[in-house]
Amino acid sequence: PDLLIEVDNLHTHFFGNAGLVRAVDGVSFSIPRGRTVCVVGESGSGKSITGRSILNQVPRGGRVVSGAIRYRPDAGKPPVDIVALDPRGKEMRAIRGAQIALISQEPMAALSPVHTIGNQMIEVIRLHLNMGRREAKEHAIETLALVGIPRPTERMESYAFQFSGGMRQRVCIALALSCRPKLLIADEPTTALDVTTQANILDLLSTLQADFNLSVLFVTHDLGVVSEIADDVVVMYLGKVVETGDVDTIFHAPAHPYTRALLQSVPRMHAGGTKRLPTIEGMVPSPLDRPQGCGFHPRCAKAVAGLCDRKAPEPVTISKGHVASCLLHGETR
Ligand code: SF4
Ligand code: MG
Repeated sequence: PDLLIEVDNLHTHFFGNAGLVRAVDGVSFSIPRGRTVCVVGESGSGKSITGRSILNQVPRGGRVVSGAIRYRPDAGKPPVDIVALDPRGKEMRAIRGAQIALISQEPMAALSPVHTIGNQMIEVIRLHLNMGRREAKEHAIETLALVGIPRPTERMESYAFQFSGGMRQRVCIALALSCRPKLLIADEPTTALDVTTQANILDLLSTLQADFNLSVLFVTHDLGVVSEIADDVVVMYLGKVVETGDVDTIFHAPAHPYTRALLQSVPRMHAGGTKRLPTIEGMVPSPLDRPQGCGFHPRCAKAVAGLCDRKAPEPVTISKGHVASCLLHGETR
């Protein structure tokens, strides 16, 4: 397949006062061109940090310590290793925000409170695309129209606070799409929105993806969202990938006990549209105190004493494109 991104044995660590946290601990997966890959896991699984690592924008205190992120902007040409680029260097700045763009949970944080939407978009466009101010303005208006902002020419003059939550997220999507990126990283972009708005935003992302042959890396804890939008799924637990497969396989033939537990805990809708977070037995262990053997063993209903608490599982191919890291698959001893 035509892979836009190959994440290969990525380790992203944080060095804090309390000790070393292996937030991303040997993660490998790929993002094919024109597909949506959902990274799903509970908080603390390392899913957001994986996304930030691909942007070469790891939060303060952390850095990628090893591994590769091969980015192939043009099919058939040699890849660029994002890990090898200086996060603040010229090459990375030409990629981030233009070829690889981010939308996150809190649109307010992504937008300036003191500049109009139009000026923010024009600035990004002129930074990355070779356009004069007038052309950049036309391009910005066109992009606002694409994401379904009514009266885009007028709304260029508005500030972030003058939009509703859903419209503000559309503005963020427009900003992210300004330079027509190849990869959109969406980190829980609908979590703060009500259910109807969430569905509209997911529809919009699906449409944009098809129209622009975008690749999307969608980070979420919500399996309902995964079932709506994913082509491929990467399930993470404690900094490791525990299962990958296409969306039908993950939902209908999950192989890893953690994936099964997540599926059994899919939240039910409550009156008033609020949602419970999925819960499964036991707490996520502190990342400072990772269990020996399989990281999931203290919570796993299938754990085998003397095995799962000693031996770290390796990825096992269950069927084509379906891989799980559990000692009960493949060779069990
Ligand atoms: Fe459960 Fe053991 Fe498989 Fe880990 S290796 S998921 S503890 S059965
Ligand atoms: Mg997160």
